[in-house]
Amino acid sequence: MKIICIGRNYIDHAKELNNPVPAKPVFFMKPDSALVIRNRPFFYPDFSNDIHHEIEVVIKINRLGRSIAPEFASRYYSEIALGVDFTARDLQAECKKNGLPWEIAKGFDYSAPLSKFLPVEKFKDVHNLDFHLDINGQRAQTGNTSDMIFSFEQLISYVSGFVTLKTGDLIYTGTPAGVGPVKIGDRLTAYLDGTRMMDFPVK
Ligand code: MG
Repeated sequence: MKIICIGRNYIDHAKELNNPVPAKPVFFMKPDSALVIRNRPFFYPDFSNDIHHEIEVVIKINRLGRSIAPEFASRYYSEIALGVDFTARDLQAECKKNGLPWEIAKGFDYSAPLSKFLPVEKFKDVHNLDFHLDINGQRAQTGNTSDMIFSFEQLISYVSGFVTLKTGDLIYTGTPAGVGPVKIGDRLTAYLDGTRMMDFPVK
């Protein structure tokens, strides 16, 4: 199983980090050891002083595919979840400055909490879904999947042109604006279309 993460997929988030709005999707990967499920705690790593939350909608690949045409891509996922793409912003800034890969800033242990999955049929329109993240009960990030620059289908098509997608692979589809730091003792709760999906502490 691999975790594919999309960067800069919401215009307002690309702007807040002073990144150009991409003409093509940007993706990177996290190892499976990054995954945290069942609301287990996020353990703040000692190698960073600036861990940021990025709430993201996650889709799960349900069949093998490569070079998938956009018009067939909707057949390749049938469940949807929320995840947090935790980012060591201080290490990422260092990587960016030096033109280095992002793995230490993005792929570290516990960096990919994931909620339970819900079937796409549960939703009227997965391309118009509200989601948000609260920290200690205060709204931190709000998004809607209609604001994605590249749709789920476009992402599946693009990524599968480079990397074969396999059953169980996850795509974290990018974060809206409002990213910011977390600290030990915080409690993160996340909602998708009004359903509470995640509720976990930072330890
Ligand atoms: Mg992200």
